[in-house]
Amino acid sequence: MTEKAHSLRVAVVGGGAGGLAAAVAAAREGAQVTILEMANRVGKKLLRTGNGRCNLTNRRVGPEGYNRPGFTAPVLAETDCAGLLAFFSSLGLWTTADGEGRVYPRSDTAASVLDVLRLACAQLGVQEVCSSEVAAIEPEAGGYSVLLRSGVRYPAHRVIVATGGGTSLLRPLGYPYIPFSPVLCPLQTDTGPIRGLTGLRVRCRARLYDGRRPAAEGSGEILFRDFGVSGILALDLSRHVQRGMTLSLDLMPETGLRALEARLEAQSRLGRAPEELLTGIFHRRVGEALFRAAGSTAPSPVARAIKDFRLTVFGPGDTGNAQVTRGGADPSYFDPATLESRRHPGLYAVGEALDVDGRCGGFNLHWAFASGLAAGRSAAHG
Ligand SMILES: Cc1cc2nc3c(=O)[nH]c(=O)nc-3n(C[C@H](O)[C@H](O)[C@H](O)COP(=O)(O)OP(=O)(O)OC[C@H]3O[C@@H](n4cnc5c(N)ncnc54)[C@H](O)[C@@H]3O)c2cc1C
Repeated sequence: MTEKAHSLRVAVVGGGAGGLAAAVAAAREGAQVTILEMANRVGKKLLRTGNGRCNLTNRRVGPEGYNRPGFTAPVLAETDCAGLLAFFSSLGLWTTADGEGRVYPRSDTAASVLDVLRLACAQLGVQEVCSSEVAAIEPEAGGYSVLLRSGVRYPAHRVIVATGGGTSLLRPLGYPYIPFSPVLCPLQTDTGPIRGLTGLRVRCRARLYDGRRPAAEGSGEILFRDFGVSGILALDLSRHVQRGMTLSLDLMPETGLRALEARLEAQSRLGRAPEELLTGIFHRRVGEALFRAAGSTAPSPVARAIKDFRLTVFGPGDTGNAQVTRGGADPSYFDPATLESRRHPGLYAVGEALDVDGRCGGFNLHWAFASGLAAGRSAAHG
């Protein structure tokens, strides 16, 4: 720790994932850190993540999982999955990963993640000031004046903006913003083909087509809803969706079309009624939807429907519950390694405050934490 860092006052605006990580990192380097949070306590959203379990990172995390691979690369090289887990381990958090590489706290409760961050903040002397909405950040000699909605001002040498998605605190300072839109939400589709399937889950391979051009694809779980499809795979595809695209589900990706036709031919010779063709293979209601899509119970058309079950996409659905907001401050105005503004030395932006969004499965929290760590370290020394 340097004398200079010791005297530096760092204001972190927003006590979410990115802000808490930034606060710990800066305080560890000796800075005097204050978190200014508009809610009545920090980390409220963290508690809701991963259905209350907090999927904090992913073993497959890497730049290609984000809308801005070039910009995220340096931070992710500095703090990859192992690096982030080492950080959390240093806070006393034990973690576990599932088969898809998604990492959760071993306790299976998001509260553990928030608790270790808050404990570290308390031990490091980080000041938490809640119920304090920041209204403006004003440059002044030697740093910034952070103005609260209440009129109170906090002078700081460095300011880290960690206000999350859909916020535009930097706009008055002249930063361009990429327009906001919800991502990581279900897809609204035509409901005719999925009539009766609400609540059922299938594992499948899915492709999104823009006309005939493939726009995105992935494998995983789809949950049928009364307005379309949800589940991790649908959420992932929502990052690429536009109205009028077609969603094609391959409900048996492990078997090629010819082999599937042959197996269904054999199944059709079991001496059962034609509409029992899929009994023993799919949930009865999925089978009925496949017969409707095929317009037949004959093996060949049914096999084609299984491999290419099509839905027209109307756009993102249930957007009020989107996990992430695309858009935010234009990252090109920030150094990709430190997140420091190229225009205003000592001013940083992290997490969703920037136009960075990632795949479902721990990528967004990873970015928030990793960018917070990078900015916190730099702010304490810069
Ligand atoms: C229901 C749900 C589940 C999710 N699950 C996961 C998951 O399991 N894994 C994953 O990787 N991602 C998940 N996400 C996404 C993830 O939570 C976000 O990407 C991440 O929290 C972004 O971190 P952040 O620090 O940028 O913003 P936030 O965590 O949103 O924190 C921003 C903070 O700033 C405060 N703030 C805003 N404006 C001001 C202001 N003017 N003054 C003072 N304070 C302000 C806010 O109150 C908030 O506390 C989920 C999101 C949701 C909504």
